[in-house]
Amino acid sequence: MHKLPPGVQVLERGWLSANGIVFASGDGPTALVDSGYCSHAEQTLALVHGALGGRPLDLLVNTHLHSDHCGGNAALQRRYPALRTLVPPGDAQAVRDWDEQALSYAATGQACPRFRCDGVLPPGGRIALGGRPWQIHAAPGHDPHAVLLFEPQSRVLLSADALWQTGFGVVFPELEGEHAFAEVAATLDLIESLAPALVVPGHGPVFTDADAALAAARRRLDGFVRDPLRHATHAAKVLLKFKLLEWQRVALSDLRAWVAHTPYFTTLHATHFAAAGDLQPWADALVDELVRAGAAQRAGDELLNR
Ligand SMILES: [Zn+2]
Repeated sequence: MHKLPPGVQVLERGWLSANGIVFASGDGPTALVDSGYCSHAEQTLALVHGALGGRPLDLLVNTHLHSDHCGGNAALQRRYPALRTLVPPGDAQAVRDWDEQALSYAATGQACPRFRCDGVLPPGGRIALGGRPWQIHAAPGHDPHAVLLFEPQSRVLLSADALWQTGFGVVFPELEGEHAFAEVAATLDLIESLAPALVVPGHGPVFTDADAALAAARRRLDGFVRDPLRHATHAAKVLLKFKLLEWQRVALSDLRAWVAHTPYFTTLHATHFAAAGDLQPWADALVDELVRAGAAQRAGDELLNR
């Protein structure tokens, strides 16, 4: 089994929070890549504290700014006042202005406490993490501004949501009517060209068989390209499941109200499903599918996470 470089620890989280990668080798600066969802911020602080053995965190890096990757930023900045936080260049101005529209939190109905950014991660550049130079690569598709990080000597890739062991993250630009499946494919090609020996994904376990993961991701992408409605339905279910992971249990009436007020649902419905019926019956059918798939459970007037 190919190993992580010394001093690198992966904090594998549940699905609501993205994985965190901690760098704590030697006397050099400590670093963390991605900080989880805000409702898990206390857990993130405890995990980072434990992984650093009580040393302060010097550097925080975000692969992209979805709420499950940077929701712990604010708490970490409070805990470590000297912390430097770097984000992808395409998101820096939105962070400075705290533009929740541009940062997707308004459209997804997700939460993310405001944080500060101190600099950017320029694609084509490098960043020192754990005493090694990591390459910064643009990785558009799942998110237009996302980056991935690659260390050529150990051939370890931090792939964020561009590649998981079985699949990749929802292609968010497609939800706004922009075409981004080709960018997903190009990012998969980039990953293939890097030939990683070990992949640390944004969600799920670390894996070594990048070729198998790439083949599975391409099959999945082909299915979405052939039938964009499949991707739209998948995206809506992912957004519902994510919120259920956050809430754990919710009254169906509250869930319906949240759907009605969350722009991605109204946009997805209007773009793809309006001819087949109204918003609420469509959303109810999505809930039924989650229940059938074992991802949720009905209990009286409530929906429970499963
Ligand atoms: Zn993401």
